[in-house]
Amino acid sequence: MVIIYSIVHQREYDYLEVMDTIKALSNEFYFLRTTELGKSIVGRSIPALQIGVSDEKILFAGGFHGCERLTTLLLLIFAERFCMALRDDGYFSSVSARTTLFGKSIVILPLINPDGYEIALKGASGALHMTEHVKRILGDSDIAQWNANARGVDINHNFDAGFPILRKMEEEEGITGPSPRCYGGEKPESEPETKILTELCRKENIRHALAFHSQGEEIFWKYGNRTPSKCFNMAKIFAASSGYQLKTPKGTASHGGFKDWFINEFAKPAFTFEIGKGTNPLDPMGLYDIYEKLEETFLLSLVL
Ligand SMILES: [Zn+2]
Repeated sequence: MVIIYSIVHQREYDYLEVMDTIKALSNEFYFLRTTELGKSIVGRSIPALQIGVSDEKILFAGGFHGCERLTTLLLLIFAERFCMALRDDGYFSSVSARTTLFGKSIVILPLINPDGYEIALKGASGALHMTEHVKRILGDSDIAQWNANARGVDINHNFDAGFPILRKMEEEEGITGPSPRCYGGEKPESEPETKILTELCRKENIRHALAFHSQGEEIFWKYGNRTPSKCFNMAKIFAASSGYQLKTPKGTASHGGFKDWFINEFAKPAFTFEIGKGTNPLDPMGLYDIYEKLEETFLLSLVL
């Protein structure tokens, strides 16, 4: 039974459907381990999927921003396609899945910010008991463009990497408190969604990390002087396989992100992929094209 491959591109999945899909994947593939890493502000479970038993892990994370939902579905398709190849002792992007996985594990966090996901998809009521709070923060803005968590903190501004510089830039853009996007919170790691990622990375041996956002078909690979030289080489290979452009972030996208923190904290490679092209939220009908363009990059991220 193929759970996602034939159906997901028809329409959006809401949070419960994402969780049901993860359950279905874990029922289908006995070697896929799923866990709850913690809960969001509103109390939604934040799931992780693991394939393989090695201590050396490669991390894939998506669903940071509410209006970037295809990143979650993209990672679930990757999980399903890789698991199918592993079960059938077959090939993933023309390389044996079993060989690819030798000596490492895959850890996938498809949905870091489930509350933001539901708010951008369903409106303020997606914040459940925090609906009124979200309405106040929203003002006249378009809810479909919501990126933050239910408290109005942008998770990808909440990591401890250049936080004071980022805070200054936010203030210059008039963002001084909870907001639909780009507010970094009172201090780094103030949000449970951020902490789930940092605690996981501190505890586990992560070889490198790939974070997924949308959109622009771009790869960001650098942060400060602790960026390992291997990072640029890997990024060039990813760019060649995907057709994406290599970029250096500017303005408020320059600090406070997961990729920035991971590089700075561990001096190991991390990348941000801006998937697809168009206006967020991207049309789910385009998901398969996005996946096809990136499948070899997923493979390469496992072997490099
Ligand atoms: Zn994003």
